[in-house]
Amino acid sequence: MKGLIGDTPLIKINYKYKEKRRSVYAKIEYYNLTGSIKDRVAYYMLRSAMEKGILKEDTPIVEATSGNTGISLAAIGASLKKKVVIFMPDWVSKEREKILKMYGAEVHLYSKEEGGFKRCILEAKKYAEEHQGFLTNQFSNLDNIRAHKETTGKEILEKITVDGFISGIGTGGTLMGIGEALCAKNPSCHLWALEPKNMSILKTGVTLSHKIDGIGDEFIPDLVSPNKIENILLITDEEALEMASMLASDLGLGVGISSGANFLAAVKMEEEVKGNIVTVFPDDLKKYISSDLGAWQKCGKLGIELLDYEIL
Ligand code: PMP
Repeated sequence: MKGLIGDTPLIKINYKYKEKRRSVYAKIEYYNLTGSIKDRVAYYMLRSAMEKGILKEDTPIVEATSGNTGISLAAIGASLKKKVVIFMPDWVSKEREKILKMYGAEVHLYSKEEGGFKRCILEAKKYAEEHQGFLTNQFSNLDNIRAHKETTGKEILEKITVDGFISGIGTGGTLMGIGEALCAKNPSCHLWALEPKNMSILKTGVTLSHKIDGIGDEFIPDLVSPNKIENILLITDEEALEMASMLASDLGLGVGISSGANFLAAVKMEEEVKGNIVTVFPDDLKKYISSDLGAWQKCGKLGIELLDYEIL
């Protein structure tokens, strides 16, 4: 998969905030095979299972996912001629469901009333047991962290030194894996997380629905070590949507909603932590055409003026 997954661009985004010219760095993860950061993880999990002999010729690949991991598994699974079965909450964008089916995956949806994401996890497990499937288990599979430590984190360090990294948490693979790589190189590197203000398991315990697809799934994933996270910022749906919308229309960086949240959080971290602050843009705007992002009217309330970006 070399050439199709990983080695994504790292850019330095310059902006004005509180009367000062500043910058943060972002790894543009929509430059992967299916357009998201999850291609790295899906590839690592499947390759490792094949090496261990767990994933055999007729073993179906099974996963509970809010979208991007499923899409990555569906695409890589198709290239390996495998059946892919995905369990997903019904509130994620319609584009995700369609794309999964276009890659040939079987999709099962569960509403909040039917048990939401937790139910998806139970059903995926049950299906894998009944059909001798390979449950990739992205929430506890260490290949998730390894993918980010050995590829995303390593690639960042090939370009710059890092003083702080911040991202939202879906499985936590991005934050923990990149964090491990960065902290191994610079033990005083600061590792921060962000949570949707409406779904803050780690900071406030609020568990309401939110619109930042891909992060904030109602539980602390097994891969997350809360003691390694130095600080947690809360980002509202409106802030994430506004920021994502600004990145597209002011800089031509067509990102998804969680990228908007990540960038705004990085801007806030840059105010408090000296040095190079890095985040990731997990996916792009195409999966959100039918969501609030597709209809978002910018309100200019964040006080950030996006200036330009440099490619490293
Ligand atoms: N943003 C989006 C759009 C995602 O799909 C994901 C993965 N669920 C994340 C952020 C969070 O990544 P991770 O699972 O590595 O925490």
